[in-house]
Amino acid sequence: NDDNFKKVISHAKEYGYVFQSSEIYDGLSAVYDYAQNGVELKNNIREYWWKAMVQMHDNIVGIDAAIFMHPTTWKASGHVDAFNDPLIDNKDSKKRYRADVLVEDYCLKIEVKINKEVAKAAKRFGDAFNKDEFLSTNGRVLGYQEKIDSVLKRLGQSLEKEDLADVKALIEELEIADPLTGSKNWTDVKQFNLMFGTKLGASAEHATDLYLRPETAQGIFVNFLNVQKTGRMKIPFGIAQTGKAFRNEIVARQFIFRMREFEQMEMQFFIKPGTQKEWFEYWKDARLKWHESLGLGSENYRFHDHEKLAHYADAATDIEFNFPFGFKELEGIHSRTDFDLKQHEEYSGKKLQYFDPEENESYTPYVLETSIGLDRMFLAVFSNALQEEDLENGTTRTVLKLPAVLAPTKAAIFPLVKKDGLPEIAKQIVEDLKWDFNITYDEKDAVGRRYRRQDAVGTPFCITVDHDTLDDNSVTIRHRDTMEQKRVKIEDLKALIKAEVEM
Ligand code: ATP
Repeated sequence: NDDNFKKVISHAKEYGYVFQSSEIYDGLSAVYDYAQNGVELKNNIREYWWKAMVQMHDNIVGIDAAIFMHPTTWKASGHVDAFNDPLIDNKDSKKRYRADVLVEDYCLKIEVKINKEVAKAAKRFGDAFNKDEFLSTNGRVLGYQEKIDSVLKRLGQSLEKEDLADVKALIEELEIADPLTGSKNWTDVKQFNLMFGTKLGASAEHATDLYLRPETAQGIFVNFLNVQKTGRMKIPFGIAQTGKAFRNEIVARQFIFRMREFEQMEMQFFIKPGTQKEWFEYWKDARLKWHESLGLGSENYRFHDHEKLAHYADAATDIEFNFPFGFKELEGIHSRTDFDLKQHEEYSGKKLQYFDPEENESYTPYVLETSIGLDRMFLAVFSNALQEEDLENGTTRTVLKLPAVLAPTKAAIFPLVKKDGLPEIAKQIVEDLKWDFNITYDEKDAVGRRYRRQDAVGTPFCITVDHDTLDDNSVTIRHRDTMEQKRVKIEDLKALIKAEVEM
């Protein structure tokens, strides 16, 4: 809900995870900076992905293509002609909206009505209440549901046919108002390209128009043959890449969920034509397992299969995650056929074919793509981790239960007091462990407060040096999630931490 989401955003700032870009100048909308802890978490997520995709698959290799690409790339990919959002302006407020989002929000409001009916009925019928039965038999609810379905269907059809007049007619018919001012005075719907343009070259006449890449995938497609040949890759094989992408998003709210500058982690898997159904299932399964391995809870993921397919796809699904504002797309898995390679063949005049030694023939491979937003994954992990716990002693603690493998700092080392040689021992532990992990040292305030500080930052272990350490060479190690404390030998610390934080 809204309150939880606000807490996530303020916690991200307060504990050094995410800052608004150029904040001293009042920020830049939908652009964010990763702070001292945020950059570590982000790097760890990227590494966790890279290991699973590249290191663990002997038929997947990585590349790092440039953000700038030859401008024809974006003609071939379809982005110049078809990477548009339908926009509508309100004539009174002068505010600009995505027309499809206005209609979807309207449907969401109807869904809220359905949920209210459900809640009312659940109260009335108590234990005897069966939600599924209620949803399928209650006349009013069925009416609402039919309305949502028909509105979305009409929207989908008119967007597909680029019948923007019909989208406007739909908005007028539904009497959708400007969410800020209530005005229903709309302009026509127009298409707006999402790519950022820039120029290469010094003088105005000789400058070339370039785009900042709106996705990393094209850098993989244009390098397909280079990698295949130099790496002597045999189909099926994949090329993975992580990197920045840029989109001039109009509905840029929801914190780092939708940004204008963001990072993608994409993998294009090149396969024999005709095998795309199997590989689509394989990658759906493999990617869901990757998510589940982080322990954020299987119930927080679901697939959303696309009925309406993009021009390049013959099957597509989203892995949706339960964000603080509901289930939304986190990752896309697309069966892209040979669309991209064929387009690049046509526009470049170069063959992008593979000679299959087993079939003794050449063909243009099909492509299976997995594409996930690193920033969205960050938001999924971070928002899922932030919890407020009521403790037995009546207080609450704020704890960031990040998966230990992803946590920015793995352990915090404390001397119980700032004297009697305890800081020296604690600092020696830092020296010994820092070769293997990110470690922090803290000697300020009572130890209970130091624990709480590390809980809020998400550090999985706190290690305290006390007076007994002087005799037994042991320390107290406290586990963030259980708050359990154990006495362990200093020399055992490394193995103990490693067992929990290693990828
Ligand atoms: P959406 O429908 O949410 O705009 P999309 O379908 O356009 O996303 P893709 O083009 O399939 O997204 O990009 C793949 C992934 O990149 C998405 O699943 C998402 O995680 C991420 N992504 C896309 N746009 C953004 C953005 N503006 N900010 C952050 N991440 C993004």
